[in-house]
Amino acid sequence: MISIVIPFHNEKENLPILLDLLIKEFKKIKKDYEIVLVDDGSTDSFQFSIFSFQKNKNIKLIKHKKKLGKGEALKTGVENASGEIIIFMDADLQDDPKDWSKFLKKIDEGYDFVNGVRMERKENFLVKIYSKLAGLVLKKILNSPFTDINCGFKAFKKEVTKDFVFYGNNFRFFPLFVYYQGFKVAEVPVINNPRRFGKSKFGPKKIFVGIFDVLTAIFLYKFSERPLHFFGMIGGIISLLGFLILGYLGFERIFHNMLLYRRPILWLGILLVVVGIQILSTGIIGELIVYLNKKNKN
Ligand code: UDP
Ligand code: MG
Repeated sequence: MISIVIPFHNEKENLPILLDLLIKEFKKIKKDYEIVLVDDGSTDSFQFSIFSFQKNKNIKLIKHKKKLGKGEALKTGVENASGEIIIFMDADLQDDPKDWSKFLKKIDEGYDFVNGVRMERKENFLVKIYSKLAGLVLKKILNSPFTDINCGFKAFKKEVTKDFVFYGNNFRFFPLFVYYQGFKVAEVPVINNPRRFGKSKFGPKKIFVGIFDVLTAIFLYKFSERPLHFFGMIGGIISLLGFLILGYLGFERIFHNMLLYRRPILWLGILLVVVGIQILSTGIIGELIVYLNKKNKN
């Protein structure tokens, strides 16, 4: 069976059209299916009960009491999905059910996780550039095999979600996590329609927030097992600079008898040493936490 998981927040114009499209597509591909709609605290008075879909046994509707974010909505969806194959789709009609066959074909070929790559994205110019840049950073630093990791349209076997902890915004890096676990991943090109009704829930703000998300991913996937490498590097460089400055001043004081009370750079030197050592110690505490965690698990 295939479970389509669709998180939505205030998409009342889109949902009836979308459900219509989905049901038609399923009639065409003739597979067992269920549609898991997750209402992420919508406030637009969308009334599911007035539609004929309500009687369709293949549609589940789960509601969050308030808006918890797309990540939480996807988590709820996965928890309530009973298919062996799950497809994530947005509710805003930007993703096209016609693309399902491409995803399913890859899964039949033996891939565990298939991510979409949006062709001709109808997005703001800045968002596009930012997406490209973030993709490049992830490719270079994290060896990401994905061209468009942020594409919400994806299909996978349910087993790949087993060890993934959805929290906050980390659903964006779900594909990377799956890849690191050793599952076989693939990509397929998908159509990306412009949003017809309603507003984007993320908007330009996502550029700013996205930088933090990328940083979190780098930290979590590259350094979470060895925090001292991360903090040690930064702290080490900073305190080294401080020591160089202080060493130079010390040399001048001792050998050239230069008095230090009129050398403001002395303060910079002291500051760098203190801050550097603090950052370094954060890394050591991090190592301790990782170690204790591992020890407790064994
Ligand atoms: N969404 C959600 N909760 C949120 C934000 C978004 O359920 O807090 C849903 C939204 O209704 C849509 C999908 O997540 O179905 C993607 O959101 P959107 O289209 O606004 O994002 P964009 O395509 O602009 O990145
Ligand atoms: Mg959208």
